[in-house]
Amino acid sequence: MSEAITCPSGLTGTIRGLKGKEGKLLADRNAARSGATFDQILAACWLSTEDPGPYAIDEKQPLDWSKVLVADRFYALLKIRALTFGDAYAFSVQCAAASCRERFEWEIRLSELPVRVLPAEALAAFQAGNRLETRLPRDGRKVWFKLLTGADEQRAAKAIKAGQGGLLQAALLARLVEVEGVASSERRGFLDELELADQVALLDRFDEADGGVETSIEVECPSCLSVQELDLPFERGFFLPRAKERAA
Ligand SMILES: [Zn+2]
Repeated sequence: MSEAITCPSGLTGTIRGLKGKEGKLLADRNAARSGATFDQILAACWLSTEDPGPYAIDEKQPLDWSKVLVADRFYALLKIRALTFGDAYAFSVQCAAASCRERFEWEIRLSELPVRVLPAEALAAFQAGNRLETRLPRDGRKVWFKLLTGADEQRAAKAIKAGQGGLLQAALLARLVEVEGVASSERRGFLDELELADQVALLDRFDEADGGVETSIEVECPSCLSVQELDLPFERGFFLPRAKERAA
């Protein structure tokens, strides 16, 4: 089974579903820990490129997934999953209400997650050296940032594991290229001193410039009926669903 897909950057190609060998890959915890699993899955399941979008490829150099934008990688993985096990994705959620804490199953259709095409400005900036500009919300200072590739994402994950700053700081540092008037060696200290509200606003601006699959969803607790927003969880069941879920 194969399918033609167009990723948020315009990258277009044909994918196939997962085979047993990729199932083995997914079960290998060491590979998963090194972050290499998704590169291997993408390389194996991407059969051909019809339009390389912003990426440079030729006959000798096929698509290098470590250089592909995170927005495209995630979209392709989602499509590979849907092609393999179907569009329904079920996972368990625990109600966030302190008085409830009910555990329940929730199911979404992967094809119904909104996808944002990479804005034309971002696409042009990525091709011209991956340097995008914004300003600090409060003092108006210029900030340059980049769109994340697979390799950037792996580096960021390593930094988080090494305990270098919190998640928010790691997300900012991974994308920050330059801050007006701040030497690169002082960047970490600069972020430490930045108001938390400014950090969040900056990350919002980085996200606005980017494309990709919207993964924040709303679920309703069947017990207390409270509605809560959460980020789509990627549990084991995403790539290795239980037989019961597959039949649904
Ligand atoms: Zn509840």
